[in-house]
Amino acid sequence: MRIIISPLDIDRKLAQKIIRRLQDVLPWEFAVSSERAPNTPAGGALPVEQVFAMMGACGRSNDVTVAVTSRDLTAQGFEYVYGYAAPRQRAAVVSLYRLVDGMHRSALLVERASKEVLHEAGHVLGLGHCDDAGCVMAYSQTLQDTDIKPCQYCANCLRELSRMPETLPEEN
Ligand SMILES: [Zn+2]
Ligand SMILES: [Zn+2]
Repeated sequence: MRIIISPLDIDRKLAQKIIRRLQDVLPWEFAVSSERAPNTPAGGALPVEQVFAMMGACGRSNDVTVAVTSRDLTAQGFEYVYGYAAPRQRAAVVSLYRLVDGMHRSALLVERASKEVLHEAGHVLGLGHCDDAGCVMAYSQTLQDTDIKPCQYCANCLRELSRMPETLPEEN
């Protein structure tokens, strides 16, 4: 398993900090994308559909690419989202916009962003929301929910992940 963070418009150093945090948590490979980020269209909130269209197809089949943006994200049916997963594209996007919360405390921002990356990667890998409040796959409605849950999958979710095939079957 390899999780690649693609910094859309954020500092690469911040992406590296997220990687280092996640390396403490899981024995997977984590990397910052070496490819140049696509130019994001100017304006306010980014529709997730636009992000996924820009990202295109991912490389290796056991890779999950998570784009991280400082812009707010919108999705069909939602006023805003913290993150969004496109499992068939093996891709996800996470927004820092509402994680900053006026504080700009970088350690807290890295912690929140790491949780969101892990959460969306979990969705890409086939996990749904988890009822265990001690699991990163617990649903977050507020930042408080995000701060309460740990930056780690619970034992059940880890077991499910280990049972899932690395390469999802293609859909016709
Ligand atoms: Zn979710
Ligand atoms: Zn869980």
